[in-house]
Amino acid sequence: MAAITQFPAAFEICKPFMLTDQQMQEIVVRLNKEINMGLGRDTHARAVVKCYITHVHDLPSGNERGRFLALDLGGTNFRVLLVTLSSDSDVDILSKSYVMDKSLLVGPGRALFDFIAECLSNFCKEQNIDKEEMPLGFTFSFPVQQIGLDKGILTSWTKGFKCEGVIGKNVVELLQHAIERRGDVKIKIVAILNDTTGTLVSCAYKQRNCRIGLIVGTGSNACYMERTGNTEMYEGYQTSNKPNMIVNTEWGAFGDNGVLDFVRTSYDKRIDQESINPHKQTFEKCISGMYMGELVRLIIVDLMEQGAIFKNLKSQSIYEKWRFETSFISEIESDEPGHHRNCANILDQLGIRGATDNDMQCVQAICETISTRSAKLVSCGLVCLINKMNAKDCAIGIDGGVYRFHPKYHDLLVDNMTKLLRGSAKFELLLSEDGSGRGAALIASVAASRKK
Ligand code: ADP
Ligand code: MG
Repeated sequence: MAAITQFPAAFEICKPFMLTDQQMQEIVVRLNKEINMGLGRDTHARAVVKCYITHVHDLPSGNERGRFLALDLGGTNFRVLLVTLSSDSDVDILSKSYVMDKSLLVGPGRALFDFIAECLSNFCKEQNIDKEEMPLGFTFSFPVQQIGLDKGILTSWTKGFKCEGVIGKNVVELLQHAIERRGDVKIKIVAILNDTTGTLVSCAYKQRNCRIGLIVGTGSNACYMERTGNTEMYEGYQTSNKPNMIVNTEWGAFGDNGVLDFVRTSYDKRIDQESINPHKQTFEKCISGMYMGELVRLIIVDLMEQGAIFKNLKSQSIYEKWRFETSFISEIESDEPGHHRNCANILDQLGIRGATDNDMQCVQAICETISTRSAKLVSCGLVCLINKMNAKDCAIGIDGGVYRFHPKYHDLLVDNMTKLLRGSAKFELLLSEDGSGRGAALIASVAASRKK
């Protein structure tokens, strides 16, 4: 690894991204405070980290059976899945991804739901299940205030979505109506859930001690098992005989009230200003795949303007917003020590030819700075949840392209969490296979059996 200190100009820019142990401990403390505000009846309304109750009390028993449709909406891909739960070891998943035109993400809500209904209908016809009554679990990964398992009000859009006429509405009803307007399939939406919840539930299906679901993909968020007695926004929090409830923290919004300003950099502020949701999702914008590449790009551009990198080289592309993809970071950090094959390739794609070894080492060090900070922030979040639950040995189910594909992300999390926990708890990080689909089916199965 090329030390960033070898490059004074880059080091100057990167320094504020390098979180100290003390800063990390402070982040854990501050997040804990925000989470308690989200949970509390008197504080929830003004809380920034909303900690939405999910109405999911039980982790799967392993006895769930049946065929369910699942939808996964809330990031880069939109997918329809047919999930068959037959025995402990046997979960059959058939899925199809659909490309969503950019205009759908920022157009009228009705067009979005009509499109989803159309994809569902096509999928059911292809699978010959259009004549059957199919229960559906809807993985909808945006901040939703859940009124029940099958009722959820969208409170804000995130991650590049901004469809009119949806905030404040029950999205289950909007989709159910779109399905009924077509009238060509018999689908009943029985549950709405967040992708974090799907990830936790799906992971718990195999790993009994799973207590946290984490996403580090287009966005970042986590959910965890809270004692029902602490979920004050739940009507029955004092009387329920269920000991636990999954809480969707919506930690992406952490810092929207300024409590992370002590670690935010000028680059974070620029990313925020050029986003379609300024002043929102502060924590997420420091962490997730939608923004990491852009942070790297902004740093490179500044260094070019100072004449500290790519001297006398030209590139149009590097000046284009969002042009530096987060997958580039993974590729560059996958280069063998002392080699820059992937880096050269990517620079070539950006029209930068003839970069020196030094330039490429510098780019690699910048990538490391951004991915390390992301992993450190996520580590703070996870440690906060582990402490909150007072868990002594817990598994964490994780999904998302950043965790899945970045070559060092897993190890960065393990190292930083171990450091922060100082031996107070054991933990295990597990990649969740298809959490959104399998988790949606498991929750749909619970919901469908409750209805009977
Ligand atoms: P989501 O369901 O949140 O959209 P995914 O889990 O499908 O996310 O991950 C997609 C996101 O992951 C992309 O938006 C991108 O930011 C990031 N990503 C994709 N490929 C890579 C990669 N090779 N390395 C790091 N991040 C990646
Ligand atoms: Mg996803």
